[in-house]
Amino acid sequence: MKIPVCGQCTRTAAWRRPWDREYLCKLHFNRAFVKRVQRTINRYKLFDREDKIAVGISGGKDSVVLLDVLVEIERKYPAEIVAVTVDEGIAVYREDGLKYAEMAARRAGIEHHIYSFEDRFGATLDLTLEVMGKGRLGACSYCGIFRRKLLNEAGLKVGATKIATGHNADDEAQTVLMNLMRGDILKTLRSNPSPTRVLDGFVRRVKPLRWTTEQEIVLYAHLNELPYQEMPCPNAVEAQRGVVREVLTQMQEATPDAIFSILRSADSLFELGDAAAGSPPVTKLFPDQPGSCTQCGQPSVNPLCRACVVENSISEVLGKKTS
Ligand code: SF4
Repeated sequence: MKIPVCGQCTRTAAWRRPWDREYLCKLHFNRAFVKRVQRTINRYKLFDREDKIAVGISGGKDSVVLLDVLVEIERKYPAEIVAVTVDEGIAVYREDGLKYAEMAARRAGIEHHIYSFEDRFGATLDLTLEVMGKGRLGACSYCGIFRRKLLNEAGLKVGATKIATGHNADDEAQTVLMNLMRGDILKTLRSNPSPTRVLDGFVRRVKPLRWTTEQEIVLYAHLNELPYQEMPCPNAVEAQRGVVREVLTQMQEATPDAIFSILRSADSLFELGDAAAGSPPVTKLFPDQPGSCTQCGQPSVNPLCRACVVENSISEVLGKKTS
C-alpha cells in the first residue's frame, strides 16, 4: 500500500485535511494549526500587546491545546499569560481534570490559580444539584451560571484584561444552530467575537480556537504529546447540543467544510449588527449597559444576578436543613 506523503514536503503524512483533502505531515500540520489561531486573533483583534491574558483551563483537550498554542504565539509579545481553573466540585471528574490542568500550567511555566464553587458560593455543584433538585434547572445550567460569574471574578482578581477560553469551531457552530432552533438569532448577534462595546465590570472573553475544529485539536494534542483529561463530565447530557452535534457530523460527511460555512454566516451577521450600530435596531440588539447586582455588585440586568439568586436559594435550603 502506498504511504501518503505531505502535500508540502516529502515527509510521511500524519493527516488528510477533510475539506481540501490535502495531506500534511506533523510539521506542516502544526504550522497550519498555529497560523489559523494567529489569524483568528488578528481577524477579531482578540489581544493587545500589553494584555494580561487569563487562560481558562479545565484540563480537557481544548484548554490544554489553547494554552500551549497561546504561549507559543504570545512569546513574541510583552503580553502576560496566567492559567485559571474553576473547580465546580464534581466528584472524581474535577479531581482528575485538575491534575491535567496543573500539568499544562507547569509545562507552560506559568502561574496557575484555582477558584472553587464551594469557596465562593458555599456549595459544590454536586451539593447544589442535591439541594436544588435536578428538576428546576439542569446541571449544566447551574454550572454555567456559577462558572461565568466565578471566571469573571477570577479574571478581575488576577488583574486580567482578557479571559481566553477553549471553545472550538464545532462548539461555536453548534451554538449558532442551537440559537436558531430556539428562535434566538439575537443571542448569536450579541456573541460577536470582536464586540464594539465593552461592559463595565466584565473582563472581555475571547475564543482563539473559534476556527479550529475538534478533530484538529485532538490531533494537535496527540502529535505534540499534550496529556489531557479524557474522562467525560458525568453531567454532560445536554440533550439539544447532542442532537445538533449529530446533525453537524452528518452534514460534514456530505460537506466537509459545513462548520466553517456556519461560522462564516455568523460572521456576516456580526457585520450586519455592526452596520446597524447607531440606528434604532441597536437598542434591541444591545440593551443599555446593565446595572449592578445589589448583592455582589457585578453587572446584572436584574436587581439580583442569577448566580446570587441560586446562591441565596442554596443557603436557604441548607439553612433550613441544619436548623
Ligand atoms: Fe458543567 Fe455541564 Fe460542563 Fe459538566 S458538562 S462541566 S456540568 S457545563
